[in-house]
Amino acid sequence: MTKKIISVVGARPQFIKAAAVSRAIGETDGLSEAMIHTGQHFDANMSDVFFEELGIPKPRHHLDINGGGHGYMTGRMLMAIEPILIAEKPDWVVVYGDTNSTLAGSLAASKLHIPVAHVEAGLRSFNRRMPEEINRLVTDHLSTLHLCPTAGATANLAAEGVVKGVHHVGDVMYDATLFAIGKAKTGSNILSDLALKPTRYAVATVHRAENTDDPKNLGAVVQFLRTQARKHQVVLPLHPRTRQAASRMGVDFDGLQVIEPVGYLDMVKLLHHAAEVYTDSGGLQKEAYFHRVPCTTLRDETEWTETITNGWNRLWKGPERADQREITEYGEGRAAFEIANLLKASNHVM
Ligand code: UDP
Repeated sequence: MTKKIISVVGARPQFIKAAAVSRAIGETDGLSEAMIHTGQHFDANMSDVFFEELGIPKPRHHLDINGGGHGYMTGRMLMAIEPILIAEKPDWVVVYGDTNSTLAGSLAASKLHIPVAHVEAGLRSFNRRMPEEINRLVTDHLSTLHLCPTAGATANLAAEGVVKGVHHVGDVMYDATLFAIGKAKTGSNILSDLALKPTRYAVATVHRAENTDDPKNLGAVVQFLRTQARKHQVVLPLHPRTRQAASRMGVDFDGLQVIEPVGYLDMVKLLHHAAEVYTDSGGLQKEAYFHRVPCTTLRDETEWTETITNGWNRLWKGPERADQREITEYGEGRAAFEIANLLKASNHVM
């Protein structure tokens, strides 16, 4: 009998993770998938481009829910997802990462006694002022299958008493990088378009609320990037939230090469040839390692502590990078297939 999966996505990093998992589900007999796109990210360069470039199946349900406060957005998603799950009757709901779409999907499903599989389970910043931390905590405690990218994530869950259904599968973003790297070689002209020379520039991204919602913090981040720009050109694909916050606060980006958000193939190409990465993104910290580029994280803590202990990353206000060592716990690019096999093999009745 075929098991039916409903996956819930809504934000840029989730499209990239879902691309890897959808492909694996599609290649696994006995599984079928339909997708709900909540609409949290909706600009063409924050959503459509990833579906096109990564061959993600068209979502069956598009909710078009975005904007407003956390409660307003999450509440509307919850209201919209519930009747879809009642009608679709899936065997699993798969959620990704730590956004409001993740929380709404896992809440709606668990209240309907539909088991939830959480891709990227167990990450913790131990900072409950981050909305993402709240979303992760609740989702992990509602989920049946915990699909952890790192050994540290499984340890975090164990420390909270979550030990059943916990699997260290590796990082699906590594799968996504391996998929895209060949395509980016011919599919992206970003270096020539921006007149960039390999290893002579850095890539930066900034979008965390802690950096964008406070003029002092945003100003400090921009100042840090300007200092780096004395060393090499800093390319900054600007997240719409950061662009809006900066114009509201009167912060300018003089001295930095600001561009619109780029598609995944362009990002892979940019990262692959960069001298350094400066970011507050979770995904980019690891992608910097996948391309063996040193990273500086523009935050006071990180969920991806193995990037720091193995010398590929540092916190911007922390010590210098440690000696570099290989990181094995992200796996070998088969995390998505492990996930598909677990979804197929696990028989769970709530
Ligand atoms: N990304 C992209 N284009 C951009 C900026 C980011 O394709 O202009 C990709 C990036 O390579 C990574 C993902 O988006 O795979 C990270 O998303 P984001 O930083 O928005 O979220 P986070 O990882 O912090 O949850």
